[in-house]
Amino acid sequence: MIGANRRRFILLLAQTALVALPPAVGAEGLPWSLDVAPQTLMQGQTIRVRIRTGSAPTATIRLLVGSAALRLHPVAGGYQAFVGTSPLTAPGLVTIRVEAQGADGVQRRTRQVRIRAGRFGTRRLSVPPTLLDPKLAAIERRKVAQATAAPIPTPQWRGPFRLPVDGSLTSNYGVRSVYNGIPQGYHLGVDFRAATGTPVRAAQSGVVTLAERLPLSGNIVMVDHGAGIFTTYQHLSAISVRRGARVARGQIVGRVGSTGLSTGPHLHWGMRVNGVRVNPLDWTKDGPLTAP
Ligand SMILES: [Zn+2]
Repeated sequence: MIGANRRRFILLLAQTALVALPPAVGAEGLPWSLDVAPQTLMQGQTIRVRIRTGSAPTATIRLLVGSAALRLHPVAGGYQAFVGTSPLTAPGLVTIRVEAQGADGVQRRTRQVRIRAGRFGTRRLSVPPTLLDPKLAAIERRKVAQATAAPIPTPQWRGPFRLPVDGSLTSNYGVRSVYNGIPQGYHLGVDFRAATGTPVRAAQSGVVTLAERLPLSGNIVMVDHGAGIFTTYQHLSAISVRRGARVARGQIVGRVGSTGLSTGPHLHWGMRVNGVRVNPLDWTKDGPLTAP
C-alpha cells in the first residue's frame, strides 16, 4: 500500500512533469501538433492527417507517407491530408512524417499506423467476354485520370457522407472478383441492388467532373468533394447532371441502371482518396474523416 501523502506526491510529480514538457514550436514560433487517425485500420479505410500550426501557417511544410510525398491542404489553424488504403496497400506499419521548415530550423513529427489485411472473400460472375478486353479498362483509366486531374483543394463537405441510394448492399468492398473463371482484381466499391430508375443522390456536395457513358462503368457520374476526395456512381440508366455542375448533398445525379459491366440493375458506389479507391462506407459515419 502506498500512503495517501506519498500518492499525492507522485500525483504532483506527474503533474509537474506534464507542465515541464517543452511545448512543440513550429517555424512561426507557434506550438504545432500532428494528429493521425485512426492509428490501426483495415485495408480500404482512410487515414486523416491533421497538423495544427496555430493561427499562422508554417512557411514550408511537407508530409511523407512511407517514402511518398502527399499534398497537404490548408484548413483553419493548420493543414490536412487524407491517405487512402485498399486491398492493394501492403499490410503492416506505415510511418507518417511531417517536416516543417522555418527560420529556427526543421521541426519533425512522426506517427506510425498499422494497416491490417482485410478478409474480403471472393465473388464469381459471368459476363460477356468482350467486356474483359484490357483496352476498355485503359479507356476508363484515361477518362478517370482527366476527371481527377485538378481537384478542388478545400473540403466541400460538412459531416458524414450519405448513402447514395435506397437499396440493399449486395456486394461489399474488397471482394475478389472472378469473371468467367478468371480473377480480375478486387471490387473497389460497394454495390446496392435497386430497381431501374431509382434515384441516385450525391453523397456529399461537390462539383461534377465526369458525366458520360464509359465501356465498363456504363453511365457514370463523378463528383469532386475537395481535398482529393471523389465519389463515383456507376451503371446508371440515366445521368441527371452535366460536367462542371455544382451539386448539393442529396441532389439527384442519375438513376439506377445496368449499363456497362453489370449483371443486373444496381448502383456501384466508389470513392477515390488521392487516387486510391477506398471503402466509401467508412465516410458515412461520424468520426475523424467527417469531423469539421
Ligand atoms: Zn460494384
